[in-house]
Amino acid sequence: MKTPVIVIGLGPMGAAMARTFLENGHPTTVWNRTPSKAAPLVKDGATLAPTAAEALAASELVVVSQTDYKAMYDSLDGADLKGRVIVNLSSGSPGELRRAGEWVSERGGALLTGGVMVPPPGIGQPGAYVFYSGPEGALEPHREALGELGDVTFVGEDPGLSMLYYQSQIYVFWSTLTAYMHAVALLGTAGVSAQEFRPFAASLLTELAGDGPMGFLNQLTEEMEAGVYPGADNTLRMQAVGADHVVEAAREAGIDAAGPTALRELFWRAVDAGHGTDGLSAVIEAVRRP
Ligand code: NDP
Repeated sequence: MKTPVIVIGLGPMGAAMARTFLENGHPTTVWNRTPSKAAPLVKDGATLAPTAAEALAASELVVVSQTDYKAMYDSLDGADLKGRVIVNLSSGSPGELRRAGEWVSERGGALLTGGVMVPPPGIGQPGAYVFYSGPEGALEPHREALGELGDVTFVGEDPGLSMLYYQSQIYVFWSTLTAYMHAVALLGTAGVSAQEFRPFAASLLTELAGDGPMGFLNQLTEEMEAGVYPGADNTLRMQAVGADHVVEAAREAGIDAAGPTALRELFWRAVDAGHGTDGLSAVIEAVRRP
């Protein structure tokens, strides 16, 4: 028999997880504050527990997917967590996750935290992965069951670490796509469509991660690790002036300039701190020292 699993929280994400466990043959017990959301899962074989505390009798493995960590306290306060591996895949701050790790272990359980790197329809699909952190010994027996949701990417014992990875990755995701939206809005004021611009953005995104002359991901990584930021023929001062022009272009076009303004300020702060003749990678110094 496959490992029985408990899923606490049936928002879009928790419901997708419970369905994936069910479809892969895991006996699945669910609980949700609003019980009606469990109906489609119960119809397909899940067991609905009347309370979260009672759900915990069904298995050692408890997957939690709720809006935030407060929801876990509201749901599990007073429940017997002895011997339970709570795998909380909700988002929160790293500090909150560390405190939650203590809260669970004070009650005899072990907390694994996780950051899910796909939207609900991607759960269990190729390419899905989840960053996990917490006690590795608690993860090992459940690798196979958790693997149903996506690749298990264990990043370390610190319970806050999964969320640091998740938030780092999601910030790259949001800021890159928001910059793309800014570009589309800017060009749109001159009658250029998003479809016309898309190939240029696509080739830039591909080249940034490559090894060619635009392979800045590799270059910046090496420079940041070395703490050396060669400017060569691409100084940060030149780029800060260029960022001023991006802000002016947004203002002239009458679109929002908040994103470029924040970027421009960061560049100039690094220049003012003495990195004007260094390269773009010197911006890390301004990020590290607010
Ligand atoms: P939702 O905010 O829709 O989650 C709602 C769930 O949390 C419901 O089960 C809700 O219960 C429960 N809940 C909220 N507050 C409480 C509380 N105080 N007590 C008990 N239950 C509570 O989020 P999603 O399902 O979309 O996502 C879940 C988590 O996964 C979030 O932390 C999110 O950041 C993360 N995530 C989501 C992704 C996505 O694309 N959706 C992608 C990656 C991560 P009720 O039904 O009763 O309201």
